[in-house]
Amino acid sequence: AAAATPRRLSPTAAASPTQGDARWGDTSSYGAKKKHRVFCQLPNGDWALCTVLTTSGDESVLKVSEGKVLRLKTESLQPANPEILDGVDDLMQLSYLSEPSVLYNLQYRYSQDLIYTKAGPVLVAVNPFKKVSLYGNEYIDAYRNKTMDSPHVYAIADAALREMKRDEVNQSIIISGESGAGKTETAKIAMQYLASLGGGSGIEYEILQTNPILEAFGNAKTLRNDNSSRFGKLIEIHFSTTGRICGAMIQTFLLEKSRVVQCAVGERSYHIFYQLCAGAPASLREKLNLKKVDEYKYLKQSCCYSIAGVDDAQMFRTVTEAMNIVHISKEDQENVFAMVSAVLWLGDVSFTVIDNENHVEIIVDEASKTVAELLGCSIEDLNLALSKRHMKVNNENIVQKLTLAQATDTRDALAKSVYASLFEWLVEQINKSLSVGKRRTGRSISILDIYGFESFDKNSFEQFCINYANERLQQHFNRHLFKLEQEEYVEDGIDWAKVDFEDNQDCLNLFEKKPLGLLSLLDEESTFPNATDLTFANKLKQHLNSNSCFRGERGKAFAVRHYAGEVAYDTSGFLEKNRDLLHMDSIQLLAKCKSSLPQFFASKMLAQSDNSISVPYRSSAADSQKLSVAMKFKGQLFQLMQRLESTTPHFIRCIKPNNLQLPAIYEQGLVLQQLKCCGVLEVVRISRSGYPTRMTHQKFARRYGFLLLEDVASQEPLSVSVAILHQFNILPEMYQVGYTKLFFRTGQIGKLEDTRNRT
Ligand code: ATP
Ligand code: MG
Repeated sequence: AAAATPRRLSPTAAASPTQGDARWGDTSSYGAKKKHRVFCQLPNGDWALCTVLTTSGDESVLKVSEGKVLRLKTESLQPANPEILDGVDDLMQLSYLSEPSVLYNLQYRYSQDLIYTKAGPVLVAVNPFKKVSLYGNEYIDAYRNKTMDSPHVYAIADAALREMKRDEVNQSIIISGESGAGKTETAKIAMQYLASLGGGSGIEYEILQTNPILEAFGNAKTLRNDNSSRFGKLIEIHFSTTGRICGAMIQTFLLEKSRVVQCAVGERSYHIFYQLCAGAPASLREKLNLKKVDEYKYLKQSCCYSIAGVDDAQMFRTVTEAMNIVHISKEDQENVFAMVSAVLWLGDVSFTVIDNENHVEIIVDEASKTVAELLGCSIEDLNLALSKRHMKVNNENIVQKLTLAQATDTRDALAKSVYASLFEWLVEQINKSLSVGKRRTGRSISILDIYGFESFDKNSFEQFCINYANERLQQHFNRHLFKLEQEEYVEDGIDWAKVDFEDNQDCLNLFEKKPLGLLSLLDEESTFPNATDLTFANKLKQHLNSNSCFRGERGKAFAVRHYAGEVAYDTSGFLEKNRDLLHMDSIQLLAKCKSSLPQFFASKMLAQSDNSISVPYRSSAADSQKLSVAMKFKGQLFQLMQRLESTTPHFIRCIKPNNLQLPAIYEQGLVLQQLKCCGVLEVVRISRSGYPTRMTHQKFARRYGFLLLEDVASQEPLSVSVAILHQFNILPEMYQVGYTKLFFRTGQIGKLEDTRNRT
């Protein structure tokens, strides 16, 4: 597959705050005045902060930067915040909460290495792509002792800890963002903070050491990130009653196993392949018959073997050291590496055609001999599994010979499932080692590091699953924020109904409805032996065309209106990826192997399969999987959501400021896109559509009381406040008076501040 390049989304109306949209605050009545700071849009689409020199008619002359002057339509300008608000550490403090002011504020901070900013309850983290001095024991102590309170991952982790103890409720830290935005690094920084509390038995150190292992086996260099996680991860960290770490549990989601047999030019397969080949000591190298990375077919196809600044041999030592620490025995480690080598050599197993119907047998050579040796089976068994298929038709056993294409697919399917099983096995071992066992206290902090919303030129089954997951997470996010806002309004007696709030339930229904939802229809079609990606696409169009979140496209394509924008999916490969068949012959091969790991893998696969259920595609080919990939994923996702529902969530949104993985480059368009996709602009929007500026009656009276032209009968703060509101003609729909506070729609205080500053 060609390397996917990120495409700008075409946002749906909901995600696209446009000028003049009332929900974004009324800026149309904004009249630019001389000396005002405003934002103007440059020809390249970026917003620039500038000062109004003069206005005449409907045009303004602006000073954009030293010596640069522009003449623009006044109505195209957006108000900028007063200078004292430059670089505020919470976006909600901005009086004008427009797109340009949010972008400008983040950029202002980013240029000073202030990569963390709050957006109300959400922490925004802009990837610095360089070392920033914000971490380490000194900072950890400062956040623990509250001598520092600027936004930080440490502050989030600390809040989670405090709330866990105070409320006796489990906590979660939910990290999202697109590939390369910094989710995994952020998760590690949070773990570092929690681990610094200590556990006593060194368990906290063990927990940190799971990172290099999982990254070696589950991360790879992609075009977007040199260390891209190809799986989702939830780590639940358990605490004892005294608040110390006492164990952890890791759950992983949807490892991208196709990468093992195929990856795009310029990308790499999983790090461990390169690390093993570069770093294995001579004896292991000989035992596993390792070659150089550029000699394996699976690794050769992408023409990329190294990562700038990374020493694979050194990383191999780091990984084995980490395996020692999480108590994976030397013997098990060697078994693991034997599987890694077997997968590589499987790619080199080739076939010879034996008849004129294109049927094949494997070639007996170094590759097939090595695979058989490493798995612990005979060459004959390997040949049988890869060149023939046993089937039951009408209760009769028959043997079908495979063609070259079928045999190659079977071989690749075996390689993928051995690798995926190995990954699962590793996670299981780690969990055993970190297990809380009987010391379980029930209090935990979970950290979720999961792929964000994706939209490329071509979107396939993987994006379909990922975006579905994000739709669920977004709902969780929305509902939480909604609840938070609601609580504050209700507490102060404010009419809540006036705050408009969007839900993405319609889109979730499109995915989940039975029997006529995307997932059900996919599963149904996957069970028909004669179904194709085209018949699947047609079925979707037939049943879902009336759904407002669905749009049928030409041929095999369809589009979904996600909360973050519309995404067009190409159904090519959907059915096959969803079925993810591994033939019974392959499982039986693994079961027969003398090595312990293949046997273990086979027993797991058999446990998951249930051949007594007869569905059409199962009766023609004995297969292993009871659940389709999409159904399994949905099950995992529901479990995850259930777990998250019972926690107090803390949200971190990671932002990638450029696609070059370079420091000091801040591309506004790219940032804006992500702010929309990960819901930050939605947070801003929600509060905009509500009453984001809040001030107690006392403070309001104190701050603006002197502007009153007439005496007020009562010096009561509330009376003074109401008088000010009247004098300044602040429209009734622009504010509400609560029991203790005044609530303003966005922009209102800005006007008062302007007057106050001029007085
Ligand atoms: P993927 O979805 O592909 O796994 P990700 O969001 O997990 O991406 P990371 O791997 O965490 O992205 O980050 C990508 C790179 O960005 C890191 O390898 C590192 O170089 C840099 N980076 C991220 N966060 C930080 C940080 N806080 N300080 C310094 N560098 C960072
Ligand atoms: Mg990652």
